[in-house]
Amino acid sequence: MPKVDFLNQAMIDLKGKDILRCLREFSGPQGSRIILEGRQVVNFCSNDYLGLASDPRLQEAAIKALKKEGFGSGSSRLICGNLKAHRDLEEKIADFKKAQACIVFSTGYMANIGILPSFCSKGDIIFSDKLNHASIVDGILLSRAQVCRYPHKDMNFLESALKKASDYRKRIIVTDSVFSMDGDIALMKEIVSLSRQYDAFVMIDEAHAFGILGKKGSGAAELFSVEQDIDIQMGTLSKAAGSFGAYCCGSKELIDFFINSSRSFIYTTAMPPCVAAASLKAIEIMEKEPYRKEIVLKNAQQTREALKSMGFDTMQSQTPIIPVVVSEPSAALKFSQELLDQGIFVQAIRPPTVPPKTSRLRITITANHNDEDRKRLLTAFYKTGKKLCLI
Ligand SMILES: *Cc1c(COP(=O)(O)O)cnc(C)c1O
Repeated sequence: MPKVDFLNQAMIDLKGKDILRCLREFSGPQGSRIILEGRQVVNFCSNDYLGLASDPRLQEAAIKALKKEGFGSGSSRLICGNLKAHRDLEEKIADFKKAQACIVFSTGYMANIGILPSFCSKGDIIFSDKLNHASIVDGILLSRAQVCRYPHKDMNFLESALKKASDYRKRIIVTDSVFSMDGDIALMKEIVSLSRQYDAFVMIDEAHAFGILGKKGSGAAELFSVEQDIDIQMGTLSKAAGSFGAYCCGSKELIDFFINSSRSFIYTTAMPPCVAAASLKAIEIMEKEPYRKEIVLKNAQQTREALKSMGFDTMQSQTPIIPVVVSEPSAALKFSQELLDQGIFVQAIRPPTVPPKTSRLRITITANHNDEDRKRLLTAFYKTGKKLCLI
């Protein structure tokens, strides 16, 4: 096939299936209102759950560090890029997560494609929930370990698969603690209990739980009091923390092992110190202002109940992530466009991000939204749902 035809055909295929994506341009700062291509809209798709991305205290912390330490970190952590800002952040996270040790990665994606291949290899088996984030899927592929993708939260399936896996050198169960597109929570207690019974390691990805779940807000491990039963706890600093980067917590040995073997940690430039300083500030705010997450959870609960009573399918959502399933990609696009015409921005989520026939609008509730914003969201959903004959 000639070169040009290959690209043309690929794009025509995507368009034909209604799954072609294109970039839209926003101007910041993040908040309940953002400017989308010159027009102000109410934003219901940000992962900035606590409203920290535009918090002046994060800016001040970053500016202070920027003035003192400059912007770039100059090299990788193991050469000359390891700064006090990194150590301060790692100590803070370890303390917040009640873990022995912590390392930070440049992004959550890089954490997952670094952790899994360094921990697992040929001869091991990884049990992965089918709805785990793409970065976990890619980490597994890079590891070359055997993989068993179990149906979403199906503990019977997981148990029978674990039963048959005693010949592998290591078994590891990996799961999102909050599922990013469904907004439901992993069965942490059950997973921990199976891991004991079948001698398996457990890794969780707390991207959407960090800052939100648990009394302190340190995540689902805290919510279920299983901090000491989970071997590898990763999460991102890019969502509720309103910053950028990711962490991995665990035993001192585990973290030393990753420093020595995790390729996406070793072979990349260290995070700029001002980014680390902003993340540290975000965690201090989480500790000082626990009401932020409580408000978000309460407002999400109310919004979800209202959508359900209108007749929408919000799946098993239990968090500020509220999916509204419309099935076909074309319906999701149409719905999203109708909402936009009413000044409400909710991105359509289509395959391959979600399984076929489950295209959806993915609403996220944040601390930035006020009562009026949520009222407008519900009015627009009702109107659009009726118009498109979905309710
Ligand atoms: C967003 C996300 C990531 C990736 O984190 P980034 O810091 O944005 O790279 C990883 N895992 C899950 C579950 C996520 O939702």
